[in-house]
Amino acid sequence: MNNGMYIDGEWIGAHRFETMPVDNPATGERIGDIPVGGALEAKMAIDAAARAFRDWAGRTAADRGAYLMKLYRLMLEHEEELASCITLEMGKPLKEARGEVRYAASFLEWYAEEGKRVCGETIPSSHPNKRIVTLRQPVGVVGAITPWNFPAAMLTRKLAPALAAGCPIVIKPSEWTPFTAIKLMELVERAEFPPGTVNLVLGDAAAIGGEFMGNEKVKKISFTGSTRVGKLLMEQGAKQVKKLSLELGGHAPMIVLDDADLALAVREVIASKFRNAGQACICGNRVYVQSGVYDRFVALLAEETLKLKVGDGFDADTDIGPLINSAALEKVERQVKDAVAKGATVLTGGVGPEGEGSCFYPPTILTNADESMLVMREETFGPVAPIRKFHADEEAIRLANDTPYGLAAYVFSGSVSRGMRVVEQLEYGIVGWNDGLPSTAQAPFGGMKESGIGREGGREGIACYLETKYVSIGI
Ligand code: ADP
Repeated sequence: MNNGMYIDGEWIGAHRFETMPVDNPATGERIGDIPVGGALEAKMAIDAAARAFRDWAGRTAADRGAYLMKLYRLMLEHEEELASCITLEMGKPLKEARGEVRYAASFLEWYAEEGKRVCGETIPSSHPNKRIVTLRQPVGVVGAITPWNFPAAMLTRKLAPALAAGCPIVIKPSEWTPFTAIKLMELVERAEFPPGTVNLVLGDAAAIGGEFMGNEKVKKISFTGSTRVGKLLMEQGAKQVKKLSLELGGHAPMIVLDDADLALAVREVIASKFRNAGQACICGNRVYVQSGVYDRFVALLAEETLKLKVGDGFDADTDIGPLINSAALEKVERQVKDAVAKGATVLTGGVGPEGEGSCFYPPTILTNADESMLVMREETFGPVAPIRKFHADEEAIRLANDTPYGLAAYVFSGSVSRGMRVVEQLEYGIVGWNDGLPSTAQAPFGGMKESGIGREGGREGIACYLETKYVSIGI
């Protein structure tokens, strides 16, 4: 497997570098090794991107869009290869990985078009002899740091709008899932992007991140990952007032009101909670169910959850693959043990994996959950659904908002007025109302509170790669 870094249109081979292993979380087997790049390779890539900037920014949006469309078509042509790579290195079921490739590609198509609609304004002046116009110009070289849970989509969600806006990009993917990023770079090469417009560096996260934050040629950072690292980047960025977009952790509440379509609510809670084995920042983390429908909802949810099959993502009937690594598994086990010790009842799952090194965890439903439990407060990133009963709508809203996170929330209600009232009071950047899977390229995705800064996707997703220049003209 190609394991190089892609810098200035060249593959920088592994042979000159120290390497680090990448394992398949389903089997524990070694997939390959990647070079441990650091500040030097990051600097080389940033320099290449800076050299590419004037030419790329000076092209028409239509020209840049044509490159993005080429990459879009190549991604669809290579859907199976990309999907297999995702399953191999991060474990999600192959059917979900195929869906991720299509979702990832959709950002290229959408921003190929949206780039053409970037425009400034003319503003009426207060003086008869002045004219006011605004220009919207690319911010410059972008440093992108991406996570392992959606190794293709989190990359294209940054790459597509940055390139469409006229910004070259240097990408650092997660060390757990570098091969999907490498495969995408192979397609970038085939799409013949000008050298330096797209670069990939691999290896030492702190060293590469440090160079991104300290190098004045990097004008903008887009990060998706943990709140811990996001805060660190904010601190590091303060020195140069670096522009930051941060998409960080979440702890999504799912509120089931007593007028909800229960079959729909169960289907969507399962989709949100168990997709990707619960390893998504917007996945439901805690479920609040109104007293009148509590027993029926819980019974239905348990019935459907028991049908889910845990296994290797390459098995056609697998619904839930492994967790990314043993640390992720330990965190889930710790949260479930803590909940049980504090009075939660295990309705399904709850038993750790068999066999050393295994990262599988069964879909788990906990009832009698309350706020004292870690699982109700800390991001779980695993297939565990703690359920708590509530009585009044206001109680659910208060509980839902009682967290430093504010990324995604979900409400299930058949009533427009009740549902809308709840939606309006939720302190979250994304709300799924009778919808457990709200992500899509044309909508603004991002969080309030400690879940981040800025939005990705939609019109807002390109705005963060643009500066507004106000021009006052005396005539
Ligand atoms: P997770 O715990 O889900 O892996 P992280 O925030 O650790 O989340 O990882 C998200 C991305 O941030 C990865 O690409 C990772 O390599 C990168 N990262 C981790 N530590 C740092 C750091 N100190 N500086 C910059 N990037 C980092």
